Amino acid sequence: MTHPQKTCGACSVCCQELTFEIDGALKPAGVMCRHCNAPNGCGIHTTRPQICRSYFCGWHYLPSLGEEWRPEKSEILISFREGPTPDGLMDGVEFHLVGSLDKLFWLPLVEYIATLITDNDPVYLSIPGGPGYQSPWVYLNNIPELRDGITRRDFAATAAALRKALHVCIDYPKTRLPEGGKE
Ligand code: SF4
Ligand code: SF4
Repeated sequence: MTHPQKTCGACSVCCQELTFEIDGALKPAGVMCRHCNAPNGCGIHTTRPQICRSYFCGWHYLPSLGEEWRPEKSEILISFREGPTPDGLMDGVEFHLVGSLDKLFWLPLVEYIATLITDNDPVYLSIPGGPGYQSPWVYLNNIPELRDGITRRDFAATAAALRKALHVCIDYPKTRLPEGGKE
């Protein structure tokens, strides 16, 4: 359930980062929707497509995440990714870094990732692949150095393991999506 007090406000991150059909064609991830009138919201608000009416990013669903997590402020778009994971866990949370990659080391994010992994909730990290390319992602729960850093409450070790995970995404070979294809 979404949180009634959370509003999109000036945010339009999903209007850029997601792939969806608009005006009969697929808009690639990483390209701003042509109807976006940032920072004043959607230019066709009253007639926007159904997908835009029904979509809410993960920030709207997670009650513990305050205003500072709204994607245009945090530069983190949260989605839910279907399981099962490689180690048999079910649906998980994906943190997609849409701005500075250094946001991965933002303390509230590191603490939230640690809480989720401690609770055995699946966690994914992803970064934009660029328009027309797949977003590289990595599953975090089965990285031993990360679990170890979290268990020992060692921020430096946890951050070092996250940095390695981030480099898996950065170094991942660029993969073009099929023409008009979704991720
Ligand atoms: S990314 Fe989330 S907060 Fe931002 S406009 Fe989309 S649904 Fe609203
Ligand atoms: S139609 Fe409006 S709400 Fe939908 S993606 Fe485009 S700008 Fe965003």
